[in-house]
Amino acid sequence: MEKTPEPQGGRASRTKLHFVVQKHAASRLHYDFRLEMEGTLKSWAVPKGPSVNPADKRLAILVEDHPYDYKDFEGTIPAGNYGAGTVIVWDQGTYESVGNVKGKAAHTEILLEGFRKGALKFRLRGQKLKGEFVLVRTASGGRNNWLLIKHRDEFASSNDILMEEESVLSGKTVEALRDDPQAKRWKSSRTPGRKSATAKRGARKKSVRASKSARDKG
Ligand code: MN
Repeated sequence: MEKTPEPQGGRASRTKLHFVVQKHAASRLHYDFRLEMEGTLKSWAVPKGPSVNPADKRLAILVEDHPYDYKDFEGTIPAGNYGAGTVIVWDQGTYESVGNVKGKAAHTEILLEGFRKGALKFRLRGQKLKGEFVLVRTASGGRNNWLLIKHRDEFASSNDILMEEESVLSGKTVEALRDDPQAKRWKSSRTPGRKSATAKRGARKKSVRASKSARDKG
């Protein structure tokens, strides 16, 4: 597969934080919403995908942190591996906290505080998702359940953003990539295994069934 050069380059920028939304056709189709924080990707599985309509509250299940370079991955994950199926980079760009601060470190500090408190506000500069969003941890349904909600701003809309189906890297849909014999394959040795301390704490008391469900969504 010829990989289209990504707009922001592949290396962790010293000045900008990156985010990615990967559309993942696994046992269940979902979208993986990932925010760079401290050199890793905080990750949520969003079964219904993100919405730009502030009236929508999309369930976002906190899953394992993923390595930073996973943000550029699209291709197939072979059967038998974590998240087996097909992945496209549905959206990608930079992001920051909504705090009136300058610099990656200052934004990260605010984001980490929001993450700990369960109310993470940020501004996306993607190709599809733009403007302010919030991830809020829900009071019920387990510590890993959050809601992803668009804030009202000039980028809010009742349009279904998920209709923009193609990868921002290759221009392919997840179905086209699935049927592409040239698609890259994810090597299982690089399969993410690290859990964030937060996810571990939340998962400790959870049932086997619940953790299996999170794995299915990873
Ligand atoms: Mn996934």
